[in-house]
Amino acid sequence: MNAARTNFTLPTLEDLEVEDLRVLVRADLNVPLEDGAIADDLRVRASVPTLEALLERGARLAVCSHLGRPKGKVREELRLAPVASRLAELLQRDVLALDEVVGEEAERACASDADVVLLENLRFEPGEEANDAGFAAALASFAQAYVNDAFGSSHRGHASVVGVPALLPCAAGLLLAREVAELERLLEGPEHPFVAVLGGAKVSDKLGVIRNLLERVDAVVVGGAMAFTLLAAQGHDVGGSRVERGRLDEIRDTLKEAEAKGVDVLLPSDVMAAEGIGEGSPHEVVSLAGIGSRMGVDIGPETAARFGDVIAAARTVLWNGPMGIFEIDDYAAGTKAVALAIAEATSKGAFTVAGGGDSAAALVELGMTDAVSHLSTGGGASLELLEGKELPGVAALRKERS
Ligand code: ADP
Ligand code: MG
Repeated sequence: MNAARTNFTLPTLEDLEVEDLRVLVRADLNVPLEDGAIADDLRVRASVPTLEALLERGARLAVCSHLGRPKGKVREELRLAPVASRLAELLQRDVLALDEVVGEEAERACASDADVVLLENLRFEPGEEANDAGFAAALASFAQAYVNDAFGSSHRGHASVVGVPALLPCAAGLLLAREVAELERLLEGPEHPFVAVLGGAKVSDKLGVIRNLLERVDAVVVGGAMAFTLLAAQGHDVGGSRVERGRLDEIRDTLKEAEAKGVDVLLPSDVMAAEGIGEGSPHEVVSLAGIGSRMGVDIGPETAARFGDVIAAARTVLWNGPMGIFEIDDYAAGTKAVALAIAEATSKGAFTVAGGGDSAAALVELGMTDAVSHLSTGGGASLELLEGKELPGVAALRKERS
């Protein structure tokens, strides 16, 4: 494990002097938009506790975030204005929304006594993703202290994530500190049995996590499209299911490693097979051998029951990735069954974590966000942390502590 992680404590808000200072807060306000309106304000709401804590301690804020992928250019539809309105409602304060990230207007606003200034979308500036030193210095010049609360962006080496904390006294926000603590709890001394439940679209996204967890887990339960790549690697005919052919050798190695370490790998034995991916295409539950040319779109009920028994008996559970194409009601049963089994484990005192944007969306849709001890808001960042990597944004905060 990375020595930096265990030897350096993460500075928290209490470690930072903020009274009467302007604090630059890197938040994650990257919300999904639909026709210019916020489709889901989860990330805005999740940012509020840190902002409120700083305001209560007499800080003035310069809040910044990226939104979407404007790639260094101004894109009108990716302005943060709708986020500013929502933030103002939640904070019950005026939010001074700027239409530039850096420049004279931003300088003036940050030097004023406005409580909350919201800079424009960071990624309108090419210097953000390039971690340009001049851009980082311009951001830092607006404030006397820096807080990173954007866990979901902390795996990026961007200016607002790693450049600014090198220039100002800094600390982790409440959301970031909690994410890091809860995810590290999975890696450091988890209670056993520890079961990892993995699913979703691509096995290549999650192979690193499986590898790192093999040291720690008792069982890996695999559903979603990635299960078919594992089954194909074992020599099963999975018909028209999604398979990442280029990964088969790597997966065979990982399966061997699991066996050597005594980790059970549970794969589907029955599946929902569909003739097409769309809603209403003919589908039925079949045994694995009966897929034919069809596509596996969910785990079957026998598999769900088998997975559920193992999950419900666990003391620690990590869940990342839905068991099927849960966006379509007919293919959501496996994901729901797993969510219910995790809820049962949680109710029996297990420590349970769900990560990944689509897994979180599935829990929201099921009205089951309380089913887990911790619901991670950072997809890519949580995966990298679970792969055993030190996140650049977290490392940048730990810099001067010993
Ligand atoms: P997360 O965001 O939770 O990490 P992923 O992004 O890896 O999850 O995967 C989620 C996507 O995987 C969903 O859009 C879902 O429809 C898709 N998916 C799940 N099972 C299958 C399957 N059997 N075939 C094709 N796509 C699938
Ligand atoms: Mg996803």
